[in-house]
Amino acid sequence: MRAIAEQEWLKGFLDFFFPPLCLGCGIFYEGEDSICATCFQKIEEFDHPFCLNCDSIVPSDSQCPICIKNSALLYVFADYRSPLKEIIINFKFRGIISPAKTFALLIASKFEKQLAKLNAQAIVPIPLHAARKNHRGYNQAELLARELASITNLELADNILYRHKRRRPQSRLKLEKRKANVAGVFAAVECENEIKRIILVDDVVTSGATVLEAKKCLEKKGYTVAGIVAITHGLL
Ligand SMILES: [Zn+2]
Ligand SMILES: [Zn+2]
Repeated sequence: MRAIAEQEWLKGFLDFFFPPLCLGCGIFYEGEDSICATCFQKIEEFDHPFCLNCDSIVPSDSQCPICIKNSALLYVFADYRSPLKEIIINFKFRGIISPAKTFALLIASKFEKQLAKLNAQAIVPIPLHAARKNHRGYNQAELLARELASITNLELADNILYRHKRRRPQSRLKLEKRKANVAGVFAAVECENEIKRIILVDDVVTSGATVLEAKKCLEKKGYTVAGIVAITHGLL
């Protein structure tokens, strides 16, 4: 009894100094996922994947009818607008990691059949440069990938793709400069057959330049990028 009373006292103390707030709108909100119902309702979900190669919506299957072999299908939960934008800022820059689990569950349930059809063996997060990860303390794409791997029973392969060059954050650049900014930033270890088909995971995909560069790098090393998964897609 005493331990419970102490826990409640501690919770009251923490709530007073650090009140639980909705990550989208900042109102007082105590739910486990830290996103209030009003914010959830405002999130505009996507029901179909996009092909990043030709920038079109792909109505059903796991291949773009225009690009076929060059398909780069992005399975993404929702449009990059408020309040999701604020939620992502909290996730990315303020050390609040609960969105990893929240959105992994939502993505896995929305695209359950399509992701299973990709026949992937592993999930690979888009890496941060080591210096940036040290500074931030975590890589939000890796946290999301870890949750997704555990839900889908796929392996988390966080040791095959590296970012070996540090460049300016894509969000600070105009669209036309993003492709050049990420050219050659990734390196990957040679594919050794146990893991061949993979799903790439990032938190936000805007122009698609980063994930397409990572895909190209992995494919040069013998992997097949069967699909790309993200929480949100849209321009800044
Ligand atoms: Zn809210
Ligand atoms: Zn296409």
